[in-house]
Amino acid sequence: MTNRRSFLKNASLVAAAGVCATGSNSLSAAPSSPSRNKNFGLQTYSLGGELGADVPGGLKRVAEMGYSYIELAGYNIEGRIGAVPIADFKKYADDAGLEIRATHTGMPRNPYDRSNLNAVLDHWKRVADHHLSIGCRYIIQPGDPGVVNTEELAYLCELYNQVGRVIREAGGVFGFHNHANEFRYIVPGGTERLPLGARNPREGAVLLYDGMLAGMERDLVQFELDVYWCVAGLHCPVEYMKRYPNRIRLLHIKDRQILGESGWMNFQKIFETAYSNGIDNFIVELEGYRDGTQFEGVKGCANYLLNSRFVR
Ligand code: MG
Repeated sequence: MTNRRSFLKNASLVAAAGVCATGSNSLSAAPSSPSRNKNFGLQTYSLGGELGADVPGGLKRVAEMGYSYIELAGYNIEGRIGAVPIADFKKYADDAGLEIRATHTGMPRNPYDRSNLNAVLDHWKRVADHHLSIGCRYIIQPGDPGVVNTEELAYLCELYNQVGRVIREAGGVFGFHNHANEFRYIVPGGTERLPLGARNPREGAVLLYDGMLAGMERDLVQFELDVYWCVAGLHCPVEYMKRYPNRIRLLHIKDRQILGESGWMNFQKIFETAYSNGIDNFIVELEGYRDGTQFEGVKGCANYLLNSRFVR
């Protein structure tokens, strides 16, 4: 089992943790009477296949845990969320009292280049229309775009700006969600990214995430910063929020497992910085939970936020 001790063996992660993960969260948790009127949501991917067994009932359980909105996963271009028609999913969310605020859905083709640009943009128009029809405003590209050099980055920026324009014209907001690999350097003419934490990269090297922020237009592409993957990428989410207060407008609130347990993440600083930036999209994400069902894990994450005084 990976624990805080084995984590600390990684010198690079120690450097990131020195800024970001002071382990102070526990001091701020556990007030005597936790508020249930807080602002945080859930990425439904966190429930895995468990949600599909009973979507209406599952969404009600999520709301009862303290979540007030959701970010969808599993959208299909035919207009379904998993096996559920999107309008029905909206009704189930309404019945549970959950707002559908965002969605994760990706590019229709890979690779994508100028030869298939029109098809790609038509795809995103359809995605936008489906989601705006249920009031879901943020449409987030969830995955690593796979670029390996600065030339591909330049096209990616051009493409995402165009996707962002299509979605904005439909009434929505396009965004990008990171993993750790966006915190690797790419170079002109490169065939692969430099290793995570590479020092003294070659001349012309660009940290992919920084290059995306620089090359994508503020009014067309927003960033949903996954704070855990940022730390795993050896960078500090608090520093990024301070550097880009108008670009990072959503957060994935994530830890190795249950929020606050690993000691890697300084959620107090993350929330304080987010509030000062006016961020109001806090979306919890939990991947495979080892110690119980996904519903139990998601409830554990909600309890951490309900019990943390720094979460409003
Ligand atoms: Mg995430």
